[in-house]
Amino acid sequence: MKPNKYKKLIVGINTKIPISNGKLVKYINFDNAATTPPFVAVLNEIINFSKWYSSIHRGKGYKSQLSSEIYDKSKKIVADFVKADLKYNTVIYVKNTTEAINMLCNVLSQNHDEFIVLSTCMEHHSNDLPWRKKYKVDYVNIDKLGRLDLKDLENKLIKYNGNVKLVTVTGVSNVTGYKNPIYKIASLAHKYGSKIVVDGAQLIPHVAMDMKPQHSKEHIDYLAFSAHKMYAPFGIGVLIGPKSIFEKKSPDYVGGGTVNIVTHDFIEWTHPPEKYEAGTPNIMGVIALIKAIKTLNKLGMNNLELHEWNLTKYTIENLKLIPDIKLYGDCKNYKDRTSIIPFNIEGLSHEITAQILSCERGIAVRNGCFCAQPYIQRLLNISKEEIEKRIVNPNLSHPGIVRISFGLYNDYTEIDTLIDILNKIVKNKE
Ligand code: PLP
Repeated sequence: MKPNKYKKLIVGINTKIPISNGKLVKYINFDNAATTPPFVAVLNEIINFSKWYSSIHRGKGYKSQLSSEIYDKSKKIVADFVKADLKYNTVIYVKNTTEAINMLCNVLSQNHDEFIVLSTCMEHHSNDLPWRKKYKVDYVNIDKLGRLDLKDLENKLIKYNGNVKLVTVTGVSNVTGYKNPIYKIASLAHKYGSKIVVDGAQLIPHVAMDMKPQHSKEHIDYLAFSAHKMYAPFGIGVLIGPKSIFEKKSPDYVGGGTVNIVTHDFIEWTHPPEKYEAGTPNIMGVIALIKAIKTLNKLGMNNLELHEWNLTKYTIENLKLIPDIKLYGDCKNYKDRTSIIPFNIEGLSHEITAQILSCERGIAVRNGCFCAQPYIQRLLNISKEEIEKRIVNPNLSHPGIVRISFGLYNDYTEIDTLIDILNKIVKNKE
């Protein structure tokens, strides 16, 4: 099999780690949905720019001017990457997707309207809990295989009779890897007078994104994503939405950079995005994010999506051959899934499986509920009574799943190592 040509683009790809017998083995990272390692190009860019970095929007010195110019121009690069129209939208830098959704939630809640948010049964907690703090939230159902039930979405939009102001949905599930039909969802939301928020944390690193023009029925109103899942480091994320909405409201965090005029009894806010970027902005985060975007653009998102889908297909088909492996999600018709495969071994806890993979072969996976407890409860058919037992007795072990998640640099040899050890675990478990 051909070696993966993307491997050399990633930092630390040949890192060796000790396993239980004391041997050093090559680290295999199948936990990319949590965080991806950075691109080499991103690391180099950070090193090269370090001699230039300076406080932005604050100084007349050369370095400060240079940093400010790069920072301001970066917004267009981000907008182009997801096809957001900057005449209409603003690009706000935040810490991560979680902060983006919390910020959006607070901004939208400021006119104190009573309204309903339609979330879904497959959301990450970061696209569920913030909404619960401020609004009445209802949840679009999923079917037996864990896919979103679009009929239920439409029924709920009809039932609430124009009172659903927002439909908030993940672009790709961090549990099953389903790519949700966001453009169909956008059309439905708009048809019933609602707007759509897309949690892009798992979508943006794997699938080409198009927010579409504002006049399109399929237009995505709000988008949030994190750099640390797209081959750049932690600490920077993006929130995109209509300028007009952010213009009207006052920011949650205030301070340096958010104001034009301040007296002891008067404040004039700056315009978005600055109004929402209080304090000294994260120029090094921006440098890293922009290099990651440029690298992804060069590789071509459609090529990456196809490559990752092939890895997913190869893994699912091989896992199906192992007795006692329980796969979650649709494993017959799975064209709409990407890069994420949840499974369990019958009779073995998710913790033990993940631990053996790490200790015996140096394979990193995630196990547990992946910050999506309601979705996992549905996939595992966990009853209310069982959940209540665990609330009363926190010492009871928690049900969960093992998750494999690919990045562009993963390859078939690594998958073969996984399949080999899983076969051995299954054989030896009695
Ligand atoms: N949404 C989804 C679907 C995720 O998978 C994650 C993180 O795993 C988040 C939101 C939160 O991202 P962050 O921790 O970068 O804020």
